[in-house]
Amino acid sequence: MKERKIIVVGGTAAGPSAAAKAKRTNPGADVTIYESSETISYGICEAPYAISGLIEDESKLVKYSPEKLQHEKDVEVKTLHRVEKIIPSKHKLIIRDFRTRGTFEQQYDKLIIATGSVPRCLNVPGEDGRNVFHLKNREDTQSIINYLNNEKPESAVIVGSGYIGMEMAEALRARLPEVMLLDQSSLPMEGLEEETRRRVLEELNNNGVQFIPDVAIEAFQQDGTGRVKHVITNRGAFESDIVILALGVDPNIELAKDANIRIGEYGGIITDQRMETNLDDIYAAGDCCEVQNIVTGKPIYLPLASVASRAAWVAGENAAGGHAVFKGAIRATAVKIFNLQIAQVGISSEEAIENGYKIVTDVISASSRNELMPGSEVVTIKLIVDKSTRRLLGANLFSCCGAVLRANTLAVAIQQKMSVDEIARLDLIYAPPFAPLWDPILIAANQVKKKNH
Ligand SMILES: Cc1cc2nc3c(=O)[nH]c(=O)nc-3n(C[C@H](O)[C@H](O)[C@H](O)COP(=O)(O)OP(=O)(O)OC[C@H]3O[C@@H](n4cnc5c(N)ncnc54)[C@H](O)[C@@H]3O)c2cc1C
Repeated sequence: MKERKIIVVGGTAAGPSAAAKAKRTNPGADVTIYESSETISYGICEAPYAISGLIEDESKLVKYSPEKLQHEKDVEVKTLHRVEKIIPSKHKLIIRDFRTRGTFEQQYDKLIIATGSVPRCLNVPGEDGRNVFHLKNREDTQSIINYLNNEKPESAVIVGSGYIGMEMAEALRARLPEVMLLDQSSLPMEGLEEETRRRVLEELNNNGVQFIPDVAIEAFQQDGTGRVKHVITNRGAFESDIVILALGVDPNIELAKDANIRIGEYGGIITDQRMETNLDDIYAAGDCCEVQNIVTGKPIYLPLASVASRAAWVAGENAAGGHAVFKGAIRATAVKIFNLQIAQVGISSEEAIENGYKIVTDVISASSRNELMPGSEVVTIKLIVDKSTRRLLGANLFSCCGAVLRANTLAVAIQQKMSVDEIARLDLIYAPPFAPLWDPILIAANQVKKKNH
């Protein structure tokens, strides 16, 4: 393969994956990552567990140092370098070096944008308090850990009850007596089915996390030292020693937009299945991109490391001269909330209806193992099925054990566009310590089949 200069912008999840894949595909290529922070290859997904103390050494979250990536993958890394401009017509970048404070120009043959996402803000007074934190990168993780260690707060308010809000509720509850979750919705975890959300609420209540629904945040009231003491809302003022904002993320696309790269309806970069943008020789992958939803065939914004890494391999391989294809994603997510596993695969019933499907749904509860075996728990499964084709569109699962791995089976079924009739006939394992004779998946599929006749 031809030697070429491949530049990757961004070094957390998608960037290093793309760079390493490019180098493997074309060992003769000269591959460089530019990353604006000090750290690359950071396992932010594990951060809640470093904050809770379950993972004792936060530095273990750094998978590769720049030196290790250079040594093991032959990829050059420039940290504290921000790419400020892309000039596509000249295949040129303008880059700022934070150490010298100056800028310089850099040519590329192929460019991969992996600029990720930015956390959402509320834009209300007092949000800049020194005890108000996002959790998006290593700096945030370390700031939260330092604050907990040094200031020893007793009460926490988390704003936003998506999966990061949930993980932070559990993490902070491990360290503080009082944790409160505020959300604009009436139940936690918008986007999941109502049955699942009610079970999440029960789990929060059982573990001493107070959930306050239907909240609109008006301001953060700071004391004289810049520390927030009260969160002011439409439902009154809530006292707090530390505040975590877990409001979701938006694609970080300023660089791409400025270069006239096409942006989609969810604000992410649009690529083709080769992860190439509308501009020649510019690829993109990760949280900065929209991807194709395999269920609906439409674009979706899925800021997940699982999606980012797979798409980044495709971008890296193609930038290096290969011919890889990324077909999209279905949404396959799970979260642990204290003793509960929650999993979602595919689309929700609300999304299905919005997309014009007529649906049949059913909820079953069955044993995770043979009932006589220790550790057997109830698994609840809700299936969402297209009435006309009988295809499985989505599912929610929850249990104290055995929900997440079953969700993976359903994820495969959704990707393969299987009907509930096919799922009901699947040859699945029976072994008393692991699964009952009729696996909950088979019970769920047979049950929903009956409703769809
Ligand atoms: C607390 C938490 C838990 C999570 N848990 C999970 C999970 O369990 N499973 C899962 O699949 N996903 C999870 N995620 C999501 C996952 O972390 C993201 O999808 C993933 O990090 C996206 O990687 P990325 O490289 O595309 O973007 P980012 O992680 O946003 O990284 C982008 C990088 O680009 C750099 N950058 C941006 N602009 C420039 C520029 N102009 N020049 C140079 N550098 C630039 C940034 O500094 C950053 O380092 C979690 C996220 C969080 C915050």
